[in-house]
Amino acid sequence: MKVLICIGTRPEAIKMAPVCHELKKRNIQFSIMSTGQHREMLAPIFDFFQIQPDHDMEIMQAEQSLNMISSRILSEADRILELAMPHIILVQGDTTSATLVSLAAFNKKIPVAHVEAGLRTYNKAAPYPEEVNRQIISRIADLHFAPTQKALANLLKENIPENSIRLVGNTIVDSLEWAQKKMGAKANAYGFFKDLFHSNKKLVLVTGHRRENFGEGLLQICEAIKQLSRREDVEIVYPVHLNPNVKEPVHEILGNIHNVHLIQPVGYPEMIWLLKRAKLIISDSGGIQEEAPSFKTPILVTRSVSERMEVVEAGLATLVGTDKSKILMEAGKYLDADYNFSDISNPYGDGNAAVKIVDELLLFSQEK
Ligand code: UDP
Repeated sequence: MKVLICIGTRPEAIKMAPVCHELKKRNIQFSIMSTGQHREMLAPIFDFFQIQPDHDMEIMQAEQSLNMISSRILSEADRILELAMPHIILVQGDTTSATLVSLAAFNKKIPVAHVEAGLRTYNKAAPYPEEVNRQIISRIADLHFAPTQKALANLLKENIPENSIRLVGNTIVDSLEWAQKKMGAKANAYGFFKDLFHSNKKLVLVTGHRRENFGEGLLQICEAIKQLSRREDVEIVYPVHLNPNVKEPVHEILGNIHNVHLIQPVGYPEMIWLLKRAKLIISDSGGIQEEAPSFKTPILVTRSVSERMEVVEAGLATLVGTDKSKILMEAGKYLDADYNFSDISNPYGDGNAAVKIVDELLLFSQEK
């Protein structure tokens, strides 16, 4: 069996890394194709997880529309599929890269396996374009790796054949375990944020990058954070996404506030340190919502809908949208309470998703 793994963005690299590790462990031939959708943010993740792309598309150009990105991925994928000649291709999540590579593979009659299948909002606008991307991938894929019962139920509801769906958990839990093992005893001694580490202030971690929040939504979120920073008992750390639609308004509203630390995107070990140490997370990130339960850190999700309702139902996440007063009210609740979420069980599995995925890939290739 020859597997081709498609990786476009930072979260895809983080969530595909455990699958790559497992394939390597079992001596199964695989190669990695990177579309480089978020190039600068991808490189440190590849280095940290000790994986490297074999095929690089380098598709990004300034001021590209989604359609331009899509057409470049589609034609480049054609070339790489010819070169790699895989028996099966693995895509992850709901990015433009995953969608167009799935379509390219379909056109070449190469089976597609979808990691993190079945997430839905059933609202085309939320998030745009991810909801439609993942529905398209579900129409194309031959094997669907659902992370949760809810995702599995969505696929069944859409008449995806039951015998093509596997409930495996989310590989993000595997990644976190691998990463923490690698960090080892150093995990608490990392000098990333020396002053913060010794501070007894409450740490608030903020991230955000969704297209649905560009413009007015992001401005409201920034205003809420600005007001939150007036509390002298908080230190706010905000690794700012490199997209200019995020970077520019964030720096304009939140620059030069003594307890708001606007920093470059951080490496994965630093992110783990922040997730662990934070009293509260404010984010629209899908991956961070899935990571929060591993650390039992509560999260305000700056969206009005979510395809990851498991975290909300577990009691760890609250959907706050982008309304400034709602964000402030909910943040205040968590910052002023002595909560304990240690009893919450992780809806994303036990860290064995990659082992299950590779088992299933082997079975699939034998059946073919
Ligand atoms: N992440 C990171 N450094 C950062 C911000 C995020 O390592 O500065 C990680 C985060 O822990 C999670 C993933 O990147 O695993 C999420 O990426 P992002 O929020 O860009 O995408 P999403 O998950 O929303 O698609």
